[in-house]
Amino acid sequence: MSRPELRLSARTLRDNIAAVTSRLDGCELMLVLKDDAYGHGLTWTVETAVQAGVTSFGSYDVRGGLDVRRLVGPEARVFAWATSTDAEIDEALLQGIDLGVGTVEYLHRIIARAEALGAVARVHLKIDTGLHRNGVLPEDWPGAIAQARAAEAAGHLSLEGIWSHIAEASDREDDDAQAVFLDAVRAAGGTGPTPAALHLTASAASWWRPELRGTVARIGAFCYGIRSADGPELEGVRPVARLVAPVARVEEGRAVIEVGAFDGLPSTLVGARVGTPAGARVLERIEPFFAQIEGWAGLSVGDEVTIFGPGEAGESSATTLAERIDTVGEEILTRLSPRIRRVPVD
Ligand SMILES: *Cc1c(COP(=O)(O)O)cnc(C)c1O
Repeated sequence: MSRPELRLSARTLRDNIAAVTSRLDGCELMLVLKDDAYGHGLTWTVETAVQAGVTSFGSYDVRGGLDVRRLVGPEARVFAWATSTDAEIDEALLQGIDLGVGTVEYLHRIIARAEALGAVARVHLKIDTGLHRNGVLPEDWPGAIAQARAAEAAGHLSLEGIWSHIAEASDREDDDAQAVFLDAVRAAGGTGPTPAALHLTASAASWWRPELRGTVARIGAFCYGIRSADGPELEGVRPVARLVAPVARVEEGRAVIEVGAFDGLPSTLVGARVGTPAGARVLERIEPFFAQIEGWAGLSVGDEVTIFGPGEAGESSATTLAERIDTVGEEILTRLSPRIRRVPVD
């Protein structure tokens, strides 16, 4: 190893997917792939997940969804929820991408494009359950459903799902959000068949609050082994990624590694402990392109330093590192620059 690398364990990703799937107890896993699969790399993640039996993928935008479609073939479900341009809608319709729809305006455009292309749009309508972050307001819901049903009758739309996103911050708010969600599902059911995909929960609520789950759970973090900040360990789930760097030079008895703030290592992490061949040592300085670590006996160029990773004498995961600076593990992983090679190890 001559450069810093993010080592990726396919075995761990598969094990995590199995643990999450088993926990979901029949609810379908939709693996969320936003931010280049939480920094792990889209292609590697999708290929590994397919081996683990995943058939449903959530990609933030249509562009990412098209990449996923190329990797998974025509059968798997690919869901993209960002509001898209008409050109993107056309691509999505041609490639059978399921579209998450959170505004009536977007629904109109999708129906218009489906009519123009003679295609059937696969739509999951989003109800705003309180986050006010893209979602049809309850008062607009009956109208949106009526339009979706009319387009369905005309052969241009298939109402595949109803969904929302919850804060996962307090049980009470999540319960209230679920009540709004279930009202929306009932209203849709009153006008035609209830869509098969009902999804409300992400990692934390899917794992800890089974009563909130619908038929599908959109899960990113826990599949990558990123537990919630200040949350407990999860049975059967371990971090997939390990960030390692060789000692590039030794300066005044200290180790220098070529990972810095511009590579995504927040400078506020000074004081954290990292793993070295001699055990945990303190990260003393973080510059734009390198970092300096307290030395150890026998320190030499090429020694391997683990900035985070399971089972090391240092911080055990991106989450434990993140907790030091009051953020979440996702934040650490998704900021790592593409300059840091992603290297599959098993
Ligand atoms: C990121 C995201 C998820 C997944 O959240 P995790 O906590 O990582 O499981 C699910 N749904 C939406 C809409 C998201 O943006």
